[in-house]
Amino acid sequence: MAEHIIPEYNEKAFNCPRCGAYANQEWLLATAIDKVRAEQYGQTANKGNIDEFAFSKCVHCDGVSIWKKGTQSMVFPKTNVRTFDLTEIPKDLAEDYAEACSVIGDSPKASGALSRRCLQSILQQQGFSDKSLYKEIQLAIDSEKLPSHISDSLDALRNIGNFSAHPMKDTSTGEVLPVEPGEAEWNLETLEFLFDFFYVQPAKTRKRKEALNEKLKQAGKPEIK
Ligand SMILES: [Zn+2]
Repeated sequence: MAEHIIPEYNEKAFNCPRCGAYANQEWLLATAIDKVRAEQYGQTANKGNIDEFAFSKCVHCDGVSIWKKGTQSMVFPKTNVRTFDLTEIPKDLAEDYAEACSVIGDSPKASGALSRRCLQSILQQQGFSDKSLYKEIQLAIDSEKLPSHISDSLDALRNIGNFSAHPMKDTSTGEVLPVEPGEAEWNLETLEFLFDFFYVQPAKTRKRKEALNEKLKQAGKPEIK
């Protein structure tokens, strides 16, 4: 499989953050035993469940990754699991996005703040400016310029983010505010859709056109505009 599948909470298979292989994942919960008693006396009495974390174990390398259940975010290994190619993305947007990716394990809140700011910058650069992010998303959706999967993703971002309960998310993007489980990841995926649509695909088309014009030129034919 050539495509890179990003690790996500409770998913059955993805590219393993430990070995990189696309592999099935076994999801585990831990029960505790007293470390000193176990190591010194071989006593392994069950001390109850560890409720805060879940574990994904890769069937390919047996490596374990640790996830915080509350935020559904991976806390170990500390690695940016996202692999979006930022070559064609404007520098200010690429920076916010990259930082939102790098902090997501430790602070989904910080990641969410950065990704909302990045989202607002993209929308405004594309001409969708209004008083709040909510309204800017509405403008973008109403413009009917976006493919339906991107419109749906933007609409869901507002709903998952519960903008009505957190009005600051709407009007002060970049503000560090509570996030719902999965929200920070959703924001990053939505940014990737927008990056692809507004920057990557147009750049590809531009390059294809240049290549075509080169061929036409060599054949003595008029170039396409
Ligand atoms: Zn692995």
